[in-house]
Amino acid sequence: MDYFELAELLFPDVTETPEDMEQKFPPRVLPEGAVVSRAAPSPTGFVHLGNLVQGLTSERMSHQSGGVMFLRVEDTDAKREVPGAVETLIDALSHYHIEFDEGATVDGDRGQYGPYRQSRRAAIYHVYAKKLVQEGRAYPCFCTEEELVKMHEEQEAEKANFGYFGRWAVWRDRSMEDIRAMLDAGHPWVLRFRSEGSIEHKIKFTDLIKGNLELTENDIDHVLLKSDGIPTYHFAHAVDDHLMHTTHVVRGDEWLPSLPFHIQLHQALGFRPPKYLHIGPLQKMDGTSKRKLSKRKDPELALTFYKAEGYPVESIYEYLLTILNSNFEDWRRANPALPASEFKFSYKKMNPAGALFDVMKLRDVSKDVISRMSADAVYQEVLTWAGEFDPEFASCLGAQPELARAALAIGRGGKKPRKDFAIWREVRGYMGFFFDELFTVEDAYPEQFAPAVIRAALEAFLASYDPADEQSVWFDKIKAVADSLGFASDMKAYRAAPEQYPGSVADISMFLRIAVTGKQNSPDMYEVMRVLGADRVRARIGAMIARLA
Ligand code: GLU
Repeated sequence: MDYFELAELLFPDVTETPEDMEQKFPPRVLPEGAVVSRAAPSPTGFVHLGNLVQGLTSERMSHQSGGVMFLRVEDTDAKREVPGAVETLIDALSHYHIEFDEGATVDGDRGQYGPYRQSRRAAIYHVYAKKLVQEGRAYPCFCTEEELVKMHEEQEAEKANFGYFGRWAVWRDRSMEDIRAMLDAGHPWVLRFRSEGSIEHKIKFTDLIKGNLELTENDIDHVLLKSDGIPTYHFAHAVDDHLMHTTHVVRGDEWLPSLPFHIQLHQALGFRPPKYLHIGPLQKMDGTSKRKLSKRKDPELALTFYKAEGYPVESIYEYLLTILNSNFEDWRRANPALPASEFKFSYKKMNPAGALFDVMKLRDVSKDVISRMSADAVYQEVLTWAGEFDPEFASCLGAQPELARAALAIGRGGKKPRKDFAIWREVRGYMGFFFDELFTVEDAYPEQFAPAVIRAALEAFLASYDPADEQSVWFDKIKAVADSLGFASDMKAYRAAPEQYPGSVADISMFLRIAVTGKQNSPDMYEVMRVLGADRVRARIGAMIARLA
């Protein structure tokens, strides 16, 4: 068989050579040890935590080593492509601080190693496809869909391995005449890899996350180009990562079974394979056992979930660092004020089996993150979130920014900041009462207290209330109200003999709290009254007195 003749027959229009490609995409000039990595997602319209884990890992490795991070859109599967999906993807990754130095952007490509959308690289793949044919490493296959189904059925009946190999590989060694006849008759064909591997052999491989592996060699003649000339992922990624000078491929471990084939492909193409890092899937506890997060069962896999709930971007970022690198939490404790980007991320700290995802832990991280934010920053973020997901709350926040900021400033700063909410969706429940439009009395007074007693306490408070009072004076007045009604003003005395009193000063505070905030729980009452201002405080207590009458 004259493979050169075959290559001309299959790719008559391809005039460029691999050497031309090498010249067009010369090695990058980078410092020693610099990592070149990429995110290479398929635009399916569904952006998930796995994309972030992958993106974050490659981005950290690239940028911490003075290397390059790029975005390549793997859109070779036109059937799965959803309009607008590329934009959604780019937006989502940049929203979560996955910054690219080059690659696909919403406005086209940026960088010298493009195009960065695989659908626009067909001519490049064909150069290498032609080379493989010339070297006898690839051949056309004219099997129809029906023939392949039949092959699969036969293999099933014989309990043979599945796939196009051995005696099933019916086009592997066909004559030029047969091939020419099919081409002349206009039959569609795919290009297949001519595997020289055997399942009797193992290959040794070191994955940077999974460690040393022994994998069975690939003996399948996989498809390289589909009948429309578009490559499969396998072929495309080998060519792209070579020409884009990727040093580290970080991807999900669902690709591990294909690795022996990928290594073969790099060898056949004369490429030095990149280093591989296969990330285990995100898992969650389901009862007492772990399972993979699933698109169908777990809404928390989709990034849209976090946006709608109002998780700050920083919380997701820190949480992912927490579960990806076991030493992140210690680092964060030691460095509470540093930006997370200063943490030295290491793939060596990643769990080969995959990280465990836990919403409760995410919430804790998020509360910490929010507690470190300024009132101004919280205000801006809540306002943005509410603009999209809670317009009524947004209009209150927008109409009274000073009140909102002052309310959010309560308990912020200092050594032990309050940690009242984990997500923006919870902020309304926490501080909505500051706005008269949203204020309602949600909690009832405990039945053990007679309305007349509560009313008397509220009236007594109003009689002595002076908004100019300092906190200690303010509290002494509440104690005085307690005394006047026979309630214990001294908590120690009360705890020693609670049966001797109808209640304590804590109950008097609770009477005030429900009147002023509508709830049993609220931020510090003195601060709340200060922020609300005397008019609102008097009006709310007055309204409660009227209700109790
Ligand atoms: N398009 C592949 C995926 O979305 C990319 C795998 C890779 O990063 O090489 O799984």
